[in-house]
Amino acid sequence: MRLKIFMNGKFVDEKQAKVSVFDHCLLYGDGCFEGIRLYQGCIFRLADHIERLYSSAKYIMLKIPLSPVQMIERVRETVRRNSLRDGYIRLVVTRGVGPLGLAPWECKKPTVFIIADKITLYPAEFYEKGLEIVTVPTRRSHVESLNPRVKSCNYLNNILAKIEASMAGALEALMLDHNGFVNECTGDNVFLVKKGVLTTPPTYLGALRGITRSVVIELARAEGIEVCEEPFTRFDVFDADECFLTGTAAEVVPVVKVDKRQIGKGKPGPVTKRLMKRFRERTAADGIMAYD
Ligand code: PMP
Repeated sequence: MRLKIFMNGKFVDEKQAKVSVFDHCLLYGDGCFEGIRLYQGCIFRLADHIERLYSSAKYIMLKIPLSPVQMIERVRETVRRNSLRDGYIRLVVTRGVGPLGLAPWECKKPTVFIIADKITLYPAEFYEKGLEIVTVPTRRSHVESLNPRVKSCNYLNNILAKIEASMAGALEALMLDHNGFVNECTGDNVFLVKKGVLTTPPTYLGALRGITRSVVIELARAEGIEVCEEPFTRFDVFDADECFLTGTAAEVVPVVKVDKRQIGKGKPGPVTKRLMKRFRERTAADGIMAYD
């Protein structure tokens, strides 16, 4: 069955869902987006995703032509029109069509589209055995350059890092900031466990305020686990008892090797496993239902 795409106020067949070559998102990466999960008809933490979308848009001075409440309704409707119960939603707001040249004020109408589709899950092996990742040479953008907290449609920084990780035979890249502090991965936040304490880089260093990250912090605190948002270096990564990544697509995934060093016992640790389990218990019950 072909998908029904929400596109600038209407639902169109996926074949008709097209953007202009003059859209500044295509020409310059000028736009922002969200990636959202749907679990058993529940749009996971939709309100948080919408809030982050509007924060990203504000940072790049892009006025979204719908209110957050209207946007939530459009997302729900997109899911319903595609009769989905589980899947992945991509919500994109671009600067819109304008003449060649950067000037965003020449773009009179932002383009808004929402895709809701099935999701290909990561292999179970990742979760059972854990991932191997590497630190890459490409650094995360400086917070006063393009703050990586904005989920913009320009992911070249992450893409370069992904290429470097892949060339080194790893699936994910650990990215540092210009000072050498660990920041995040190309599409996931990073956590360490040391002596029972959970640590993740603070968002003021430019790590994305991941929705999964926030949920994991809440779940850990509810379990009585101490959580710190503190800068750390690769030394702390190598020295950790456990390491894991969080993201909408990956959920909570253990990391067992970083830069060829074994982390902890070299297999998913007890705190990671507990949080993976708690997270999965949450997914279908923590969000906005797509169907009434
Ligand atoms: N960091 C980056 C750079 C990301 O693109 C993402 C989203 N894929 C994340 C972290 C994780 O955020 P979330 O849990 O909201 O998906």
